[in-house]
Amino acid sequence: MISLGCAKNLVNSEQMMYLLRKAGHTLTGDVSDADVNIVNTCGFLESARQEAVDQILELAPLRGKIVVAGCLAELVKEEIFTELPEVSAIVGCGSFDRIVKAAEAAYAGEKFSAFDALGASVSETPRVVTGCNGECRPDGGISAKSAYLKISEGCSNHCAYCLIPTIRGAHVSRPVERILEEAQTLASGGVREIILVAQDLTRYGIDLYGAPRLCELLNKLCETEGIRWIRLHYLYPNEFTDELIDVIASRDKIIKYIDMPIQHCSDEILRAMNRRGSKKQLEELIQKLKERIPGIVIRTTVITGFPGETQAHHLEMCDFLARHRLPRVGAFAYSAEDGTPASEFPGQVPEETKLRRQEQIMTLQRDIMDSFNETRIGQTVDVIYEGYDRLAETFYGRSFAESPDVDGKIFFSSKTVPGDFTRVLIESADNGDLFGTAEEDLL
Ligand code: SF4
Repeated sequence: MISLGCAKNLVNSEQMMYLLRKAGHTLTGDVSDADVNIVNTCGFLESARQEAVDQILELAPLRGKIVVAGCLAELVKEEIFTELPEVSAIVGCGSFDRIVKAAEAAYAGEKFSAFDALGASVSETPRVVTGCNGECRPDGGISAKSAYLKISEGCSNHCAYCLIPTIRGAHVSRPVERILEEAQTLASGGVREIILVAQDLTRYGIDLYGAPRLCELLNKLCETEGIRWIRLHYLYPNEFTDELIDVIASRDKIIKYIDMPIQHCSDEILRAMNRRGSKKQLEELIQKLKERIPGIVIRTTVITGFPGETQAHHLEMCDFLARHRLPRVGAFAYSAEDGTPASEFPGQVPEETKLRRQEQIMTLQRDIMDSFNETRIGQTVDVIYEGYDRLAETFYGRSFAESPDVDGKIFFSSKTVPGDFTRVLIESADNGDLFGTAEEDLL
């Protein structure tokens, strides 16, 4: 199983692995050894679709049959058979639970495709939990200390540049009971950090219960025995209520790190993006979060070069980031995706300009990130253990302020093999990473 794209897609890959293993098939980490190679694809950006095609072509010379699943499959369907005759089977985003049939048909040399309706309900199929690093234990046990927990599927926000509502369907919440059960299963298996994911966490419950229920869910998740950290990814700023701020502030298990994509700050651009909310609301929200939750780490993403974005809008964005000094920011050059309203908008910005603005924001942010990391030198922090770097001969992990895959790591020396968590004195910072020593070695 090759899992591309986001954490939500990784959860689907893990569910497919569970079904394949339950059907008696064996999971291997070696594509050249496989009878069937499954690529669970991403498809919401041209660059992601190209990555999926490159991956499929890389597998073509191998003996294994190829099955394509996920967002690219959902977006282009049987066209894949025409464009990539090497592919034997295709399953869309509504058909992950048909993966065994797809793999067996492929292995038998047959063509197979399945595109069940989207948005019915979220699959409650169990998972082979690979954690945030995508590795699974041969015996099916959970090796990871961190795992993603998907609370809903799809999105109904319809931002003007985004294909996800088309690919993944409308927003559908999982029942609270199912989410709590899964959290307990993860904890019983050794997971200590759960990372809540969805396209938009703040919408949780609106479809199923007629009102937002994220706060209630968080309070209940905090009662899960064994879970020490609850991390929140993908919060929509405009739905960020005072109640949600209070829950994050008052519950120790909910770590003071939030991922809240804003995409832009200019009222004109936000309106053109069909994003709810205004610059004034964003300013007030960030101020409120910093006052109510001292030391909170805010991660966000912004898009540069959205159609109609002028140099003045761009400078407004730079000024906003320079004033709020958010330690974790990703900037992406706008990509005109066929099938999205924005791809037809007038005022398309030249590629060179988009990339120049992206680079300007990332340069600004590197300084902000470095000075943030400098302020942490001399602090002793809790670090969740992730592994051992043989080359550097050092252990590594993350504190509350680092999310997997998108932020740096904390490399630390320790005389003993770390447990789930280690207290680490931060001694230096370099290029987004931090370096330190296990506190117990300093006592
Ligand atoms: S919130 Fe907007 S950008 Fe995010 S998945 Fe939904 S439509 Fe796409």
